[in-house]
Amino acid sequence: MVNGATTSGELRAHNRVRLLRAVHDCGATLTRSQLTRDLRLARGTASVLVAGLAQDGLLHEEPAPEHVRGRPTQVPGPHPYGPLALAADVREDAWELAACELGGRVTVLDVRPHDGTPEGALGPLGEAVAAHRRRLRHRVVGAGVALAGPVRHGGLVDIAHLGWRSVEVPRFFTDAPIVGNDTAFAALAEARRGRLRDVEVGLHLHVDFDLGGVLIVRGRPLGGAGGMGAEFGHMPLTGGTRPCVCGAVGCWGMDVGANALLRHVGLAYGGGRGREQAEHVLATSEEAVAAGARALGLGVAALVNAHDPEVVTLSGHGAELYERAADSLLETYEPGLMAIRRDHPPRIECSALGWRGALLGAMESVFDAFLTPEGLDRWRENHLDQARDTPERQNVTHSTPKREKAP
Ligand SMILES: [Zn+2]
Repeated sequence: MVNGATTSGELRAHNRVRLLRAVHDCGATLTRSQLTRDLRLARGTASVLVAGLAQDGLLHEEPAPEHVRGRPTQVPGPHPYGPLALAADVREDAWELAACELGGRVTVLDVRPHDGTPEGALGPLGEAVAAHRRRLRHRVVGAGVALAGPVRHGGLVDIAHLGWRSVEVPRFFTDAPIVGNDTAFAALAEARRGRLRDVEVGLHLHVDFDLGGVLIVRGRPLGGAGGMGAEFGHMPLTGGTRPCVCGAVGCWGMDVGANALLRHVGLAYGGGRGREQAEHVLATSEEAVAAGARALGLGVAALVNAHDPEVVTLSGHGAELYERAADSLLETYEPGLMAIRRDHPPRIECSALGWRGALLGAMESVFDAFLTPEGLDRWRENHLDQARDTPERQNVTHSTPKREKAP
């Protein structure tokens, strides 16, 4: 008996999920024999499973690229007409929508700027998702949407500096998406296929216009009772006294990110505007960069004292601040640590996923919901009904991405 699977049918369903999960988590890089060994399957069992999954349009095997002589080694990967997760990263000034295959390959479908209102941002996104669902039909197994603010259960989001209060995200979509906070999604992706993989306790910080952070425990972001936990950017960690748009005073996030860079050089900031100017400041003003890095280091030290993580990962502008001004960051980080932590301070690392983390985390949430015996049964029924319909319309990987800002 494995995980409650008692009949041979249940055991087979359980192993189908395990195999697909393993293919997805390794990024479709392991050979069939490596997967067979890792999952402790008999060779014959693995062959039958792979054949069944291929027949259902869930997997497709390719010969391993480095193999030259003898019988080619097969690498199971995504089926060309297999399941897709639609994933969107909604930032304060633009959104990006992508189709993601099992294994994590991303094809960007659309990138659009928006005016910062819920209708202006989520209206066109909802329409784009609906259009791609119509075109890709049964291939779409779900949609995930990352947002730059705290998300309550049920998909209610607040983005203080855009004036969003309790915006009901699902009402903009024909099928309810999985809605989550961008930093929590970025941290989830980092835990699955980045620098927080196999880390027991990690701290992830994502910096865009301001700063968000979340603690990851055994691969899961700690979301709090209502889903709104870990708003580390809204803690008074730098001794500031300015009121924050969130309603608190002296928030850490006011001193780290694009808004802080703009403010430092006397430019207008706020409302999710000024990304290009902020990137210019980041590239040209050493003083503004150093100030941001020092503020980042102060807060990281406080959170390390509180949570004792093994590693701290930085994404978005956080990685750029560290790369440009590591000395300034360490100047406040090291003295901010308790003496007992200074001999072995947790390492600080840049994200392996760059700006893609939030989008990839949204994808992971969709595939987490799909990769279950029930999800695969549903796929099988729909696949048998629809697989013969004009598959060329359902292709995503040959379309040209409009923007690639991958790691
Ligand atoms: Zn605040």
